[in-house]
Amino acid sequence: MASDEPFSEKLRVPEALTFDDVLLRPKESRVEPDDADMATRVSTNVTLNIPVLSAAMDTVTEAELAIEMAREGGLGVLHRNMTVEETAEHVETVKRADELIIRDVVTASPEQTVREVDRMMGKEGVSGAPVVDDDDVVLGIISGTDIRPYLEVGDRDEVREAMTDEVITAGEDVTAREALELMYEHKIERVPIVDEEERLTGLVTMQGILARREYDNAARASDGSLVVGVAVGPFETDRALAADAAGADIVFIDCAHAHNLDVIDSAREIKAEVDADVVVGNVGTREAAEAIVDFADGVKVGIGPGSICTTRIVSGSGMPQITAVAEVADVATQHDVPVIADGGIRYSGDAIKAIAAGADAVMLGSYFAGTDEAPGRVITMNGKRYKQYRGMGSVGAMKSGGGDRYLKDDPEDEEYVPEGVEAATPYKGSLESELHQLVGGMQSGMGYVGAETIPEFKERSEFVRVSSAGQTESHAHDVVITDEAPNYSPDN
Ligand code: 5GP
Repeated sequence: MASDEPFSEKLRVPEALTFDDVLLRPKESRVEPDDADMATRVSTNVTLNIPVLSAAMDTVTEAELAIEMAREGGLGVLHRNMTVEETAEHVETVKRADELIIRDVVTASPEQTVREVDRMMGKEGVSGAPVVDDDDVVLGIISGTDIRPYLEVGDRDEVREAMTDEVITAGEDVTAREALELMYEHKIERVPIVDEEERLTGLVTMQGILARREYDNAARASDGSLVVGVAVGPFETDRALAADAAGADIVFIDCAHAHNLDVIDSAREIKAEVDADVVVGNVGTREAAEAIVDFADGVKVGIGPGSICTTRIVSGSGMPQITAVAEVADVATQHDVPVIADGGIRYSGDAIKAIAAGADAVMLGSYFAGTDEAPGRVITMNGKRYKQYRGMGSVGAMKSGGGDRYLKDDPEDEEYVPEGVEAATPYKGSLESELHQLVGGMQSGMGYVGAETIPEFKERSEFVRVSSAGQTESHAHDVVITDEAPNYSPDN
C-alpha cells in the first residue's frame, strides 16, 4: 500500500468548495457591464428582471421590503413567523402596491357639506374623491380645486353643488396608456372605474400612473401586480392555501433539510393544491435534487452557508455552497427547473459565482437586513449604527414560532437546540442603493466573462481554484483603508 493511501475507505472523501475557493476565469469580451441583461427565470412561471431574492427571515422580509424588492426587479420572500391571517395581509399589501386601479377608494356622498369633505380628504391624504349615491353609482367628482374658498361655494354648501358632475369614467379593462390619454384630453387627474351599471369599482390617478413609471424594471405578474413569494413550513398547508388565495406568485416550502421524505411528501401535496408555483428547499446534493425536480417549480440550495447559521457546527452536516449549487444544478438543469442559491453571499462577487456554479438566482439575508425597509429599528452601539439580524433557527426566532424549519417544533419543549444565532448587522440605508451595488458588481462579473445574459453566463463561465495565498491577494492588502467603499468591507 502506498504511504499516501488512506487507512480506511471511509476517508476517501471528495472535496467540496465554496465562494472563496474559486474565481471566475476572465475571458474575451465585448460586453459592457451596463449592457448585461440580468433577467432570469426563478420558477416555472415567474421571471425576474434581476436575479435576486430576499430571505424569508423575520429580520429581513415583510411587505415593505418585498414591495421594494419587486419594484427593483427582484423578489421578496415573506417570512412565516406570523399568523396565517397576517401572511395573507402582507401578500395583499404587496399586491395592492403600485396597482393601476386603486380599490379602497375614498368617496364622498352628495349630501355631505363641503367642509366635511375637505376635512375628510385632508385626513385620508387624497386631493379628490368620486361622489357616489347609496348604490355606489358615480354622480360626480369633487377635488380640492372645486372647494377652494374663493369659489362661489361656501363651507356649508352640499357637495352636490360644488362637484363636477360631468365625470369621465372608464371600465375595468382600461390600460395605463388609455387612462393617461383620457386624463390629458379632459385635463383631469383621476378617472373613476365603473361597472355596467355605472357603479364605482375603483379609481385610476395620474399620481399612481407616474409612480408606476418610475419603476420601469419592476418584476410584475401578468396582471401588472408586483410579484411576491411566501415561505411556508413544510407541513403548513393552511398557510400555503391562504398565501395562494391572497395572490402569492410563489410558495416556498421552507425547510432546513428538504431531503426529508416526509417533507417531500407534504410538498408534493401542497403543490397539488395551489395555483402558485412551488419552490422546494433547502437541499445541497444531487440526490436531493433528484427527489424533487419531478414536481417542484424551483429548487433552493443551501445547507449551512448562512451568515447567522450554525447548522454545520451544531450538526456536523452541510455542503460548501459552490459545490452544493453545482451538484443540484447538474440535475435541475436537465429537468429545466430553476435553481436558487440561498445563503453565504457577502459580496456581489459571491453572488455571480453562485450563478456561474449553476444557479438562476441568489437569495440573501444579511446583505439586506441592515436596510431601511427591513423590519426592526436602528440601534447604536459604540457610536456605530446597526439593525438586528437573527437566524430563523436561533432561540429568539424559534420562540416566536419558526422551529419546524429545523424539524423541531414541539411547543412543550422549551429547551431548543438552535442552529442559528442572534446578531446585529451594520445599518446600510436604502435597499435600492444596496441592490444597485449588488447587481452592478454582478454585471461586472458578466463583463469579465463576456456574457450578455444570465443563461449565456452560466454556459460560458469557468472557475479557477484559488489557494489561500490567492485569496489573500484578492482582498485589499498591505494598505490601511481610509474611506469606506459602498460595496466592500474586509470584515464580511
Ligand atoms: P445569509 O445571506 O445571511 O448568509 O443567509 C441567509 C439564509 O440563511 C436564509 O435564506 C436561510 O436559508 C438561512 N438561515 C436563516 N436562518 C438560519 C438559521 O438560523 N440557521 C440556518 N442553518 N440557516 C439559516
